[in-house]
Amino acid sequence: MSNTLQAVRGMNDILPADAALWEFFEATVADWLRAYGYTQIRTPIVENTDLFVRSIGEVTDIVEKEMYSFEDKLNGERLTLRPEGTASCVRAVVQHNLLYNAPQRLWYQGAMFRHERPQKGRYRQFHQVGVEALGFAGPDMDAEHIIMTARLWRLLGLDDVALEINTLGSPEARGRYRARLIQYFEQHTDTLDEDARRRLHSNPLRILDSKNPAMQGVIEAAPKLVDDLDEESRKHFDELQQMLNAANVRFTVNPRLVRGLDYYNATVFEWVTTQLGAQGTVCAGGRYDGLIAQIGGKPAPACGFAMGVERLLALLQDKNFTPPALPPDVYILHLGEQADRLALSAAEQLRDEGLSVVLHCGGGSFKAQMKKADASGARYAIIIGDDEAAAGEVSVKSLRDTGEQRRLTLAAAAELVAQ
Ligand code: ATP
Ligand code: MG
Repeated sequence: MSNTLQAVRGMNDILPADAALWEFFEATVADWLRAYGYTQIRTPIVENTDLFVRSIGEVTDIVEKEMYSFEDKLNGERLTLRPEGTASCVRAVVQHNLLYNAPQRLWYQGAMFRHERPQKGRYRQFHQVGVEALGFAGPDMDAEHIIMTARLWRLLGLDDVALEINTLGSPEARGRYRARLIQYFEQHTDTLDEDARRRLHSNPLRILDSKNPAMQGVIEAAPKLVDDLDEESRKHFDELQQMLNAANVRFTVNPRLVRGLDYYNATVFEWVTTQLGAQGTVCAGGRYDGLIAQIGGKPAPACGFAMGVERLLALLQDKNFTPPALPPDVYILHLGEQADRLALSAAEQLRDEGLSVVLHCGGGSFKAQMKKADASGARYAIIIGDDEAAAGEVSVKSLRDTGEQRRLTLAAAAELVAQ
């Protein structure tokens, strides 16, 4: 076995047995996004490393230690497998001047890459569905994003995810808060763990996010940004809360919710479940009003969110959710030279009628073929032997009830199956 090649650690195959769940999820998501008027954007998986360093921020987990970066052997460019989707989306919007005429409601989906320690709900290749609204300044758009995610949980039958929101204020308020936090934590360096000490001067807000039980007391007592919020952010946050209340979306304000990426300001939110252990955040987002300008575009406000597909699917699986099965309509059995030829063209004709057809391949007796037909889950077996081939007909047998086999023309058989 030692010579057998394996997938890269933390990067998963999605096997046929799980594909139906993924397809169900993707179809649900596509319908849901259409219902809100979002259009899809697809960007490359590889981008210039600089894009992520400049947007996500130099002193963040992702840029410090999680990115798959490499040098293009041919021209020496520094490239990175995308660790998230917002930076690429904004880069594409700026590059193609999509905000020229109108604001944009966009979404994306696909694989993201982060070098993390693999565990349940945390992989090195994982998938996100992300939503971005660019050119919208008001809290109505933050509310739309939160209300639409609440609808998605209903569509998926997930009732155990809870919403936490917070505001990071304006860049100035955040700057003042940062200084206050450094001052506060400097008085408590003996209770800080190594990670927190490293972040103390580079990214002190992230200390609030620590899960270390030994630090919870000092974090709890830390100054809160909401006590020194700029007027505009306070109003934005108040209005958002009123809109959520009016829409009957329940939430808690978590003053320690900061998000790991540098580009956020004002609203941040997370949907969290207790079902997945430490990997409980299934969806996270917020406002990033400065990012478009930072990437070189004309300044415009924006907000968005991304959800972790593997974590949502794990929730569905924990609930023993079974996606709708999609078996073929027909399984065609055939035996004999003339029958083999007729079967091939009969299958094509049935597909012309919009039916899904599995044509038996690999020979074998009718008995053996019938076993395969049963196992396929098809509603009907169509049987073509020498007799049928000579008469230019087929035999049809329902695999769902015990009705007799019937000899029909192919056209009549197609009509029966299509009912
Ligand atoms: P976490 O705190 O769990 O590391 P994050 O803040 O790094 O999450 P984001 O960058 O906000 O996560 O990504 C949005 C969502 O993508 C997360 O809420 C989570 O559901 C999912 N996600 C992030 N990293 C991973 C991963 N390594 N494996 C699987 N899903 C992930
Ligand atoms: Mg992370």
